Amino acid sequence: TTTPVTVLGLGLMGRALARAFLSAGHPTTVWNRTPSAAEELVAGGARRVDTVADAVHAGRLIVVCLTDYPAVYAVLEQADLAGTIVVNLTSGDSAQARAAARWTEQRGARYLDGAIMAVPPVIGTTDAVLLHSGAQADFDAAAPVLAALGTVTHLGADHGLAALYDGAGLAMMWSVLNAWLQGTAMLRTAGVDARTFTPFAAQIATGVATWLPGYAEQVDNGAYPAEVAALSTDAASMAHLVEECEALGVNAELPKLLKAMAERAIAAGHGAEQYPVLITEFAKP
Ligand code: NDP
Repeated sequence: TTTPVTVLGLGLMGRALARAFLSAGHPTTVWNRTPSAAEELVAGGARRVDTVADAVHAGRLIVVCLTDYPAVYAVLEQADLAGTIVVNLTSGDSAQARAAARWTEQRGARYLDGAIMAVPPVIGTTDAVLLHSGAQADFDAAAPVLAALGTVTHLGADHGLAALYDGAGLAMMWSVLNAWLQGTAMLRTAGVDARTFTPFAAQIATGVATWLPGYAEQVDNGAYPAEVAALSTDAASMAHLVEECEALGVNAELPKLLKAMAERAIAAGHGAEQYPVLITEFAKP
């Protein structure tokens, strides 16, 4: 079945979203501050309107994808939102998402937050991961249409969850990439190129990933028995890593940070426990 949907914001991402809705056969109304952005979509069957009010009037489901939250408010305050479901796919933090939910609900509308973990060319394929948070009923109402965009997942009722998962995912991504770049910089001093190092790097990354469920048990239970290694053993290796990087003349900032965090946990009495006890360091400011 097809459902009318409105897209507010036709930047690189907003245009990709509208194209995917059109491809799935949903009657799609589009609005953008700069109207020319809609031209290609209109040729593809979209209906362009001149005002936000007309765009919101076109259907119950309002998908918003703008630069930031100030833009979201500047646009949404131009319309009567009563009776709509606002699906906000604009990037922001969890506090912004929760505040936007309250703001929207005060105007008689429902609010579903979303984080897009994909680039525009992937939108409309199952490889595009979209994370949503908000009431189950609102997700259930929007999901049949949102499914046109990619693989959609509901994380829970707390509107801040999509932004939090987005941030956590980026933390994972950058940490793995930085570790790979650190190793690459070290090995290049011995004439080993990135291509040669990479299969080993990937093996380590996937191997470490298999440890996570067991370590998650330790974190959730708040007990960190040293089953395979004590944190003090890791810390000694970290000191060697710092010395090696300094001797090689490559950047040692990241190894120094790892070492400093481990040393703080050891100073707090956690040296005989296992690595995940470092959550005590990560969980505070
Ligand atoms: P673009 O810069 O391409 O588009 C920005 C859009 O916001 C345009 O439609 C612009 O309108 C509109 N806009 C900005 N300020 C205002 C305002 N005050 N009033 C009205 N409209 C405004 O960005 P993207 O489309 O790439 O990104 C949009 C959102 O999607 C961002 O939050 C981004 O983080 C997120 N996202 C993007 C990804 C990507 O790969 N591109 C990936 C994942 C998330 P106008 O055309 O008139 O300037």
